[in-house]
Amino acid sequence: MESNKKSSEFNFLEAALVKRTELFEGCTNIVVGDGNLNADILFVGEAPGRNEDLQGVPFCGAAGKNLDKLLDNVGLSLDDVYVANILKCRPPENRDPLPDEIKAHTPWLLKQIRDMKPRVVCSLGNYATKFFMSLGDVDLMKSQPGITEVHGVARDIEIPLDSEHQTGQVLKIKLIPLFHPAAIIYNRTKLTPLWEADMLVVKNEVNFVA
Ligand code: URA
Repeated sequence: MESNKKSSEFNFLEAALVKRTELFEGCTNIVVGDGNLNADILFVGEAPGRNEDLQGVPFCGAAGKNLDKLLDNVGLSLDDVYVANILKCRPPENRDPLPDEIKAHTPWLLKQIRDMKPRVVCSLGNYATKFFMSLGDVDLMKSQPGITEVHGVARDIEIPLDSEHQTGQVLKIKLIPLFHPAAIIYNRTKLTPLWEADMLVVKNEVNFVA
């Protein structure tokens, strides 16, 4: 498959910020998202891994297989959600995202949310959750509570759209943090029932009927 890095589809301001990062230099593909752009639910993970980088598709490796299974358990599929990540390019050796990388890559994620207008955003795991809980202020992410404390609770949050806070423009989001499907692989017995219970909160929020 040819790399999508030179695609003219990505000629917009938020993509230009990503293209200036070292992660962009080192990755095979930009990983934008997958699923149904008209869905009410957006899942936001951390960053592409090896398989995602090679295929240009999020959640297509082990974590993705588990996500498919978890969705199936609650009567949903990729037709009912859209999945994206905080980072659009794979960090080397899957290391944790750095603050400057999050700052450069999340304007694209916020643009995706503005365009898609999901009714609920589900942050998957600590990184995505802390990004939203800090209202997009990456320097405050470290002081946010972890996923174990906040999963399954719906919150209305407002992310300032200009970092200088001059225009007062905000992005309004209904946030429901969920455990990350990769974490669930390592603690299935304890975390699967919690994930399923949290998804009832999500389904209620969007009035999901099968
Ligand atoms: N694959 C992704 O696309 N995102 C993650 O957070 C983990 C695996």
